[in-house]
Amino acid sequence: MAEEGGGEYLFKIVVIGDSAVGKSNLLSRFARNEFDHHSKATIGVEFQTQVVEVEGKDVKVQVWDTAGQERFRAVTSAYYRGAVGALIVYDISRKPTFESIKRWLDELNTHCDTAVSRMLVGNKCDLESIREVSVDEGKNLAEEERLFFIETSAFRATNVRKSFEIVIREIYDKVS
Ligand code: GDP
Ligand code: MG
Repeated sequence: MAEEGGGEYLFKIVVIGDSAVGKSNLLSRFARNEFDHHSKATIGVEFQTQVVEVEGKDVKVQVWDTAGQERFRAVTSAYYRGAVGALIVYDISRKPTFESIKRWLDELNTHCDTAVSRMLVGNKCDLESIREVSVDEGKNLAEEERLFFIETSAFRATNVRKSFEIVIREIYDKVS
């Protein structure tokens, strides 16, 4: 799903990670600059499309949300199909969500080839006072697994655009 007719690009990016790490809010922050304090498990909406400019070219970015499937460990292969980028998200204030990252990477690897651009995202960095995962722990895991790494806050809109833009840029460099 890299190039459409007419030289226009379409990139599919999936957002994965444990329940309530902030996946849907990262997506709504990126797509609509919105944050929801009381977001329920995502129902219905499957993806959001955004047009992003890279080197003067319009790139259509389709970001997929899990629609709550991750609660039941039932993210389907259709979800991953055609993905060229992935944000693998944990919550810096909940260690178990960080410990799940390897499992999410395994799942990504079974469904997608290794060329998928990957970003490890430590979300909720506004919750410094109750942090359970240090920046170094995040960095080290990212290095080990050869992922990009960033900490974000969907709440404060910190680094959200940047996290998507780095992934989009890497995909673009691969296909252009
Ligand atoms: P998902 O299940 O991974 O899609 O997580 P949601 O986006 O539904 O968010 C789960 C909960 O975490 C909600 O109550 C959000 O308001 C909250 N949340 C999401 N992102 C942040 C963040 O960056 N900081 C803080 N403090 N809360 C967040
Ligand atoms: Mg959600």
